[in-house]
Amino acid sequence: MFDYLIVGAGYAGSVLAERLAAGAGRKVLIVDKRPHIGGNAYDHYNDAGLLVHKYGPHIFHTNSREVFEYLSRFTEWRPYEHRVRASVDGQILPIPINLDTVNKLYGLSLTSFQLEEFFASVAEKREQIRTSEDVIVSKVGRDLYEKFFRSYTRKQWGLDPSELDAQVTARVPVRTNRDDRYFTDTYQAMPKRGYTRMFENMLDHSNIRIMLNTDYREIERMIPFREMIYTGPVDEYFDFRFGKLPYRSLEFKHETHDQQVWQSAPVVNYPNEHPYTRITEFKYLTGQDHAKTSIVYEFPQAEGDPYYPVPRPENTELYKKYQALADATPGVHFAGRLATYKYYNQDQVAAQALTLYKKITGVKQPDRK
Ligand code: FAD
Ligand code: UDP
Repeated sequence: MFDYLIVGAGYAGSVLAERLAAGAGRKVLIVDKRPHIGGNAYDHYNDAGLLVHKYGPHIFHTNSREVFEYLSRFTEWRPYEHRVRASVDGQILPIPINLDTVNKLYGLSLTSFQLEEFFASVAEKREQIRTSEDVIVSKVGRDLYEKFFRSYTRKQWGLDPSELDAQVTARVPVRTNRDDRYFTDTYQAMPKRGYTRMFENMLDHSNIRIMLNTDYREIERMIPFREMIYTGPVDEYFDFRFGKLPYRSLEFKHETHDQQVWQSAPVVNYPNEHPYTRITEFKYLTGQDHAKTSIVYEFPQAEGDPYYPVPRPENTELYKKYQALADATPGVHFAGRLATYKYYNQDQVAAQALTLYKKITGVKQPDRK
């Protein structure tokens, strides 16, 4: 008899499996329908021997000391600060928009103070910051919004920024200095030997059994367990009872090239040209030394594997109905980006899983082995 059947071996499932097994001595069966652990953070060495992220670029960053210290038990780190460029009007410019972005784009030589005045002169007044359009036009005005955000967002989400919650574009700050880092978190690093190795270390415990290539519905009636932790899409768990919750999907096109370097930055965004949103070159992220280089293009899709919850009011309303059902389902705990319908980064999912662990077990010190 297993104490827990855990559905999904991504961040949510793996953190909970590790804690319940090593922290609370529970017997755990973790299943995933994919042929590997790690969920969307899974990485692997491709045919050319380059370490790549199968489901698009994953950059680790957090302000949570608890999460960073917890994950540090399973991996060493390679310090890495992420940088992104955007292809706009024939130029490759820093994004987040900063002093250099504006000066290069318009051929100006403003100081930070003058840029603040410039933003104030072009910004549109908004009584309330409700949508992803409000966030940007109220800071940098219409032209920069159109060039950097509007088409990228329409392509990525199939919706206009005015139809999406503020939190989507609020992920990308605006700066008046020359800082061109994508993130400013306290901890910014990549797992030294990759994410999959980190997950292998997490799940390497005598209380944990792993079953891959297995949909939980194939085994849930055959294998006895006391409680379930579910990290797949919440609407699917309830057979879409209230209708489908929209999740945005992507198609990834991976390529390897017979050259040392492909592009001038780890990620280049293409807001206005091409059907893809961005190209990532993995060597920047991994620090790998190799004669060849691997890249990935991201093509947004409505159908396909669910990758992103779509933050907008009607979806939140629909999710609330599923959440109420989830809360009223005894013996099943819902965790992670798909099961709680939250646009969470890796560290936020890890934090959510640690919190759920404390709640389930009543353990006050999650970090005790
Ligand atoms: P998942 O990783 O989706 O895991 C859920 C697992 O459940 C999957 O493996 C799935 O196969 C399995 N499953 C579902 N249904 C069933 C079933 N019926 N039976 C068995 N198994 C099932 N975060 C960052 O911090 N930094 C980044 O740079 C970053 N970049 C991202 C880029 C992309 C393109 C995407 C899509 C996400 C990115 N993220 C990033 C977010 C990150 O991927 C997530 O926060 C994290 O991986 C979510 O973990 P999870 O366990 O909730 O879900
Ligand atoms: N975004 C944009 N232009 C950019 C970068 C981001 O319009 O050059 C918007 C877009 O809506 C995107 C959101 O900001 O989906 C969040 O960007 P982030 O890079 O955090 O996306 P993720 O890495 O989660 O796909």
